Amino acid sequence: MNNPSINETLIREVVEDVLGRLGKPSAAPAPQPAPPPRSSAAPPAPPAVSRPSAAPSGGRRLGVFSDATEACSAAAEAFEKLSAQGMAGRARVIEIVKTLSSAHAAEWGRIELEETKIGRLDHKIEKLLGLKAVPGIESLCPDGFSGDHGITLEEFAPFGVIGAITPSTHSIPTLSCNVINMVAAGNAVVFNAHPGAYRCAAMAARVYNEAIFRELGIENLIAIVDPPTLESFKAICASDQVRLLCVTGGPGVVKAAMQAGKRAICAGPGNPPVLVDDTADIDRAARCIIQGAAYDNNLLCIGEKEVFVLESVAGRLMEALQRQGAARLDSAQIDRLTREAFVFPAGQGAGCPHATVNKELIGKDAALLARMAGANVPAGTELLWGETGADHLFVQEEQMMPFVPVVRVPTVSAGIEAARAAEHGYRHTAIIHSHNVSHMTAMAKALNTTLFIKNGSCLAGLGNGGEGYPSFSIATPTGEGVTSPKTFTRVRRCVMVDNLRIF
Ligand code: NAD
Repeated sequence: MNNPSINETLIREVVEDVLGRLGKPSAAPAPQPAPPPRSSAAPPAPPAVSRPSAAPSGGRRLGVFSDATEACSAAAEAFEKLSAQGMAGRARVIEIVKTLSSAHAAEWGRIELEETKIGRLDHKIEKLLGLKAVPGIESLCPDGFSGDHGITLEEFAPFGVIGAITPSTHSIPTLSCNVINMVAAGNAVVFNAHPGAYRCAAMAARVYNEAIFRELGIENLIAIVDPPTLESFKAICASDQVRLLCVTGGPGVVKAAMQAGKRAICAGPGNPPVLVDDTADIDRAARCIIQGAAYDNNLLCIGEKEVFVLESVAGRLMEALQRQGAARLDSAQIDRLTREAFVFPAGQGAGCPHATVNKELIGKDAALLARMAGANVPAGTELLWGETGADHLFVQEEQMMPFVPVVRVPTVSAGIEAARAAEHGYRHTAIIHSHNVSHMTAMAKALNTTLFIKNGSCLAGLGNGGEGYPSFSIATPTGEGVTSPKTFTRVRRCVMVDNLRIF
């Protein structure tokens, strides 16, 4: 016997598909497919990667919108649908994002590198594989109170739609990590990605949305503007549907978000200093400095950007760096590299122009920097270093290149003071190599950073070689710290008076 409702659904889907391929909107809205039952089988096979484009597919946008206001409205609808599917729906979305980012890590790492032309393929892949460790709904345990007057529960509720801005330095990883955190907390999200890294972000969003629609029947849970502009940023900030902003980037976007007139969680810039004292395991310190500063060609906001070393062990640290494969530049080579690595834009600084990092060199390979410095370094060199003064541009600016300046300091207090000055009050990340607890404590107090790592590379601060979970958005100026699902929640208190305490 014919089932008329199935036929109608089938016909509508076929018509939509045809219209979609012709690039026309469908005449009637598609009925909401019921979420298919979860199979007991392993996670879904990864779908083929869609080409980056804002064109609809099968009548659906797959989250990609040229108009920011439309993107916000679509995300608001998605939020309602996600809410209707409860914690199980959120958990399934997270599983989809983790499975797909892992399955596509090699391909997406390459695509992101091809688009941005910054960083290293091996680490781009590793960053995507590392998303598995981002916490999910399990981290949203409610707080309870129980007493003579009954019971009270504090729950972590969603905001609704979150507007998120992502950086060029880790585009797909930041998008994916934000999605896991924000959806775990029950939200939908609209992204304005970096103009130099949005194609890969939109591609990943399409792939995620396609799978989310297929499995849960929710469209546009991860909305993204293509192409992103300052206007689309402003439209997202101004949208009544967007209840919270999360920006990840440098000082400009942090300032813009803080002026947006709604709450903003800001993951801002850093310039992480390292201090090495005479109680440190010097070989370990050198190894950790190379690991962190060379990671993705020093694109990480937490990456070691300058090293202060106690005079008495400076020679040993320099030998250890050399021995472990970091190549030394002499002062003439450092001068040459500095002239290439910084520009002095006209019209800024009133006669004393402020240096800006030359974007052409951000995230480039050590071999290229060495060539610019006029140095010959062995093939495979991951990091360059050289001795400078504390006021050198490479010390003071967040340069994001695989070159670290090494500065001798006469005492630990002088080193802490120099590190504090170089960190510029960003309160982001600092690192010490020491076995003297007083030195650790003094530096922690003086720098007051969000991450403070002792005897490890910066990566340990995000659970890679240290305890704790990772995130690609570390909220520094606004104080939320390493973001997690809880960061994106509203705390709501539910009080039962004089009842339901069961003993
Ligand atoms: P960026 O500031 O150039 O761009 C970041 C994002 O902000 C992009 O999407 C960009 O389009 C947008 N943006 C920039 N200025 C804006 C403005 N005035 N109005 C609206 N949007 C604006 O940074 P980037 O080069 O992509 O990334 C590197 C910077 O981000 C570094 O300073 C790094 O320390 C920081 N970062 C911080 C974290 C963290 O977790 N704290 C993580 C990654 C990167």
